[in-house]
Amino acid sequence: MDTRTGLVIATLMTLLNGGVLGLMHKSLSADVQPSAADWRIGTLLFASGSILLAVQDMMPLGLVLPLANGCFMLGVMLYWRATRRFVGLPDTPWLFAPIPFAVFGIYWFAEQVPDQAARVYFATAVWVPGLFAAAWTLRGSPPHQELRSRRVLAATFVIVGIFMLVRVISLMLQPDRYVTMLESRNVFNLLAPLIVTVLPVIGTTAFLVMCSERIRNQWQHAAATDYLTGLPNRRTITGSGEACFNQARRSGSGLAVAVIDIDHFKQVNDRLGHDAGDVALRYVATALASQCRGPHMVGRQGGEEFVALLVVTNAAQAHAAAERLRLAVASSPLQLNGQTIPLTISVGVAVYQADDTSYDTLLRRADHAVYAAKAGGRNQVVMAPDAPLPSP
Ligand code: GH3
Ligand code: MG
Ligand code: MG
Repeated sequence: MDTRTGLVIATLMTLLNGGVLGLMHKSLSADVQPSAADWRIGTLLFASGSILLAVQDMMPLGLVLPLANGCFMLGVMLYWRATRRFVGLPDTPWLFAPIPFAVFGIYWFAEQVPDQAARVYFATAVWVPGLFAAAWTLRGSPPHQELRSRRVLAATFVIVGIFMLVRVISLMLQPDRYVTMLESRNVFNLLAPLIVTVLPVIGTTAFLVMCSERIRNQWQHAAATDYLTGLPNRRTITGSGEACFNQARRSGSGLAVAVIDIDHFKQVNDRLGHDAGDVALRYVATALASQCRGPHMVGRQGGEEFVALLVVTNAAQAHAAAERLRLAVASSPLQLNGQTIPLTISVGVAVYQADDTSYDTLLRRADHAVYAAKAGGRNQVVMAPDAPLPSP
């Protein structure tokens, strides 16, 4: 297969991939659409660059080569910007700044002093930093576990970057001067169309998987989190509670469950309105979360009720931890629209003991202790008696 056929096939495959990405654009979540738009335009620019290289001997070299290389370089930089947008980095026009210089260099060594090796040096000077920078942008641990697809995409950038470097080194050692890519006998030059396809084809697939992983993670996060407070929701805290319970049972590690209910919350809604009630709920959630770092965990059970899982070894520690929760809320009243809104919570705590048969029994004991706290005057912690409650 000659280089021209390779370039035509590369163009077709690239166009097909760009088309698939275009068809899927609307299905992607809004936050990745700007990144996907960059990726699609980058892919179309790669297709344009390939087709221009395939027909380079039919047009003046001083026009077609700067144009083709300009397309590729802009494509690489758009791929880089796509990765930046994907991970949430701000846009910067400096990404594109080297392109005019490189395009001029390529024009010079196509029209004025024909020299294919020199043209490759200019192109590589833009490609390689762009490719490695794109791979670098995708490094690290992503917030939503998009790890595998990110690695595949980063590896694709690195492989293409290494190929470009090897190609430039081979040309430095044995300059293939005064010829175009179509006549070249340099094996790396001949392989160039293949490599040019890797990014828009394999890269686009990896990019799409990355987008779908982002969507999946967003759904998983939404399903596990309480919309109003950002805390784990009932389903999540129950799952964690069951896991902690089983662990406590197996290994004898300590566990206490605290049920937390905001005092007279209805009055907050009635006096200040439902929106202010929401602000107060978020405020309490933040105060509780600030005390539930490390092994402890707090979630919203529903309404104005929360559940904390306290990893403690005895009742005294459980009581102290619950007191810290109560104080965190009671000691800093909410300031809202110039008003001071005092908020307090009642906390019922049940410490795991051998008679507890499930997380549910522990939770029920804590729940009963909350009633006792309410009856005792609110704004207090009540420890549940050790004996499990009789089944309802
Ligand atoms: P107690 O001290 O006995 O717990 O009194 P309370 O007023 O806190 O308890 P009650 O069960 O009578 O009222 C709970 C209130 O919580 C009623 C409900 O409107 C309010 N509430 C539940 N969920 C939300 C919410 O998401 N946002 C707002 N603003 N209010 C909520
Ligand atoms: Mg309640
Ligand atoms: Mg209440």
